[in-house]
Amino acid sequence: MSKTVLVTGGAGFIGSCLVRQLVLQDDLTVINLDKLTYAGNLDSLAELADDSRHILVEGDICDADLIARLLAEFRPNAIFNLAAESHVDRSIDGPAEFVATNVVGTFTLLEAARNYWRELAADRAAEFRFLQVSTDEVYGSLGKTGLFTEATPYSPNSPYSASKASADHFVRAYFHTFGLPTLTTNCSNNYGPRQFPEKLIPVMILNALEGKPLPIYGDGQNVRDWLFVEDHCRAIRRVLQQGRPGEVYNIGGNCERTNLEIVTAVCAALDRLCPDLAHRPCEKLITFVKDRPGHDRRYAIDAAKMKSELQWSPVETFETGLEKTIRWYLEHRTWLDRIASGGYRRERLGLCEIG
Ligand code: NAD
Repeated sequence: MSKTVLVTGGAGFIGSCLVRQLVLQDDLTVINLDKLTYAGNLDSLAELADDSRHILVEGDICDADLIARLLAEFRPNAIFNLAAESHVDRSIDGPAEFVATNVVGTFTLLEAARNYWRELAADRAAEFRFLQVSTDEVYGSLGKTGLFTEATPYSPNSPYSASKASADHFVRAYFHTFGLPTLTTNCSNNYGPRQFPEKLIPVMILNALEGKPLPIYGDGQNVRDWLFVEDHCRAIRRVLQQGRPGEVYNIGGNCERTNLEIVTAVCAALDRLCPDLAHRPCEKLITFVKDRPGHDRRYAIDAAKMKSELQWSPVETFETGLEKTIRWYLEHRTWLDRIASGGYRRERLGLCEIG
């Protein structure tokens, strides 16, 4: 029988990719606990709809009783915490939800994990891991030079990054105070198929296809490091398998780009891949809009520890990853259309009711 893990937020962009890899490549049974907020999309899990190794539970990581019941019933070997409110702009408009899910939810999960872990037999307790998926945004903003390392002090500037930083501190504390075998990953900006069209790359693809303006904050010179989502999920699995409890691992693509460079690259790829597009060249649609408050200028990750300790490096370059991403959106217009119509939220695939 395959081993079991609990993934939270597994109907989201990164979570659904991770769940697919855990089931299809690692042959694990995955209990996928997801609240199915606007960002949770069961269409992204369609490949697993008939796979008995994927058990979807609609629920909240703030629900301590539910988590305790899931742990008691399924006895997982690991917990991957990806459930989060993840969009910076939404955290500026309404931070409360970010505190509830990202801070209180992570704390609730840690408490449940601690209670479960300390009752495990010694061999299973030694094997158990709690893996917190976090972001490079917790480190704050860099100047023109320098990189975030695992030793960079936390300095969050948005309600989103503050909530993730707070959660990460609790994870650290549960390792140091209670000995819970935790791992934390801090990753740079992800892109790839199935990303909700509120994040930079899918917004630009969708708007360009519809001939709408391509809005870029400020002067477009904010720099981010970009990583293809499948590379991120490979890294998370590697950290789970080989990472040392209590450690932090920075994950990045060694791929710094300004927002303007990203949008220009998306436009060039769409011009090339869609010769029939009405609004070519897409670059004509670029418009600069008022900057986001507290907008960090530059993030850049030093992923040397992932390479030297865990022999991980990304497989995709930005060019190959972007091409795959754009082709996926072009070939899956119904995925986008069902978000636009709200259809993706009205239907539920094979939900499992617990207790
Ligand atoms: P996402 O917004 O696409 O997905 C989040 C998922 O969590 C959704 O399925 C949502 O329904 C679920 N969720 C939200 N609140 C919940 C709750 N209270 N209980 C259970 N489920 C809940 O996010 P994503 O981009 O896939 O990010 C996943 C994780 O990776 C997050 O923790 C995020 O902070 C982190 N991260 C993201 C990026 C990125 O570029 N997207 C980079 C680094 C780290």
